[in-house]
Amino acid sequence: MKHDEDLDFSSKCVHSGIEENEFGAVVPPIYQTSTFKFKSADHGASLFAGKEKGYIYTRLANPTIEAMENAIAELEGGYKALGCASGMAAIHTVFASMLSAGDHVVCSAAVYGPTTTLLNTIMKKFGVGTTFTDTTDVGNVLNAMKPNTKVVYVETPGNPTLCISDIEEISKIAHEHNAKVVVDNTFMSPALQTPLALGADVVLHSLTKFLNGHADVVGGIVVVKDEETYTQFRKVLNQTGGVIDPFNSFLVHRGLKTLAIRMEKHTENAQKIAEWLEKHPMVKSIRYPGLKSHPNYEVGLRQHKAPGGMITFEVEGGIEAGKVLIGSVKLCQLAVSLGGVESLIEHPASMTHFSMGKDARLAAGITDGLVRISVGIESADDLISDLDQALAKVKEVIRHLEKTEA
Ligand SMILES: *Cc1c(COP(=O)(O)O)cnc(C)c1O
Repeated sequence: MKHDEDLDFSSKCVHSGIEENEFGAVVPPIYQTSTFKFKSADHGASLFAGKEKGYIYTRLANPTIEAMENAIAELEGGYKALGCASGMAAIHTVFASMLSAGDHVVCSAAVYGPTTTLLNTIMKKFGVGTTFTDTTDVGNVLNAMKPNTKVVYVETPGNPTLCISDIEEISKIAHEHNAKVVVDNTFMSPALQTPLALGADVVLHSLTKFLNGHADVVGGIVVVKDEETYTQFRKVLNQTGGVIDPFNSFLVHRGLKTLAIRMEKHTENAQKIAEWLEKHPMVKSIRYPGLKSHPNYEVGLRQHKAPGGMITFEVEGGIEAGKVLIGSVKLCQLAVSLGGVESLIEHPASMTHFSMGKDARLAAGITDGLVRISVGIESADDLISDLDQALAKVKEVIRHLEKTEA
């Protein structure tokens, strides 16, 4: 029998964070309680003074939340994790913990839209400056570093362009400049990529996406490497209050059990669909980390175990054609978010990345005609036939437009 830490990833997904409990329940109970009774006045005082371990109040700690946090910390190869109310709450917890007025952040240009907005509005208001740069070129990271740079924030693959930044190289540069590296690992999950092992200092996720995987929870998580960082972050989270709740933690923990197998299927489907789309005459361009045509294909091979479940592509005919496409699919659902078992399709320029503004979008490579698919675990053949009928509609509409213009 292997030691726990030597188990394969798929075994860890099933067993991590699960502790013995009173009745021997295979699935640990949900402690749906806001507060915990003290045995005596002295017991309460001792818990508050930190002399004894135990639970006080769910904003501070709760066994169901902790079980899920421990599971994800183990899957990411970190020390401990902090469950947050959403991915954005996780990102805010990280910034609020690591940055002070006068500090500077270097951030990937292609990141989740609201991350850009958070840095450009709230963090800016509190005196934190940010340089956004194309982090797929490590030279840009080096050029953007300033004496007051405290955090290099990388999302890879980046949303929605799926560009890939080299975590290992970026970590070297950041550490030479006494800055820490934070990686948003939402698009890959620890099944496919473990940034801490590549040199990053902090990894975070929107739990809403692949980790929960069933489109029924909003949540976030931050994983850290050491006790000191954990204590520093936990204080901020306790004070700002953006914690996840026990029931959502339970659902995420349940979702984790199938993470390895889901990511395998997401990837298998996405690879098939991407190869099919690449050959389709109505597809103008496509980005998928599993295609040799991807500009950072080689970095990807080194950095992740598999290319994941996200595809972006542009159809011929610009924004109108894109609208026809996303309006014509039937099995793929027109919705934002990603990482669930069901396939979703969306239009970044008018939806997830609208708040960035057009200039920032174009600088990040998000053209108006770009469409993003989160490939689910349905049959790849069914998904391809759905896209095929939708692309046929696009062709019809374009032909019709050309005729009326002529
Ligand atoms: C969704 C998402 C977030 C934000 O997470 P929420 O749970 O919606 O707050 C952050 N980063 C990435 C890459 C995401 O896809």
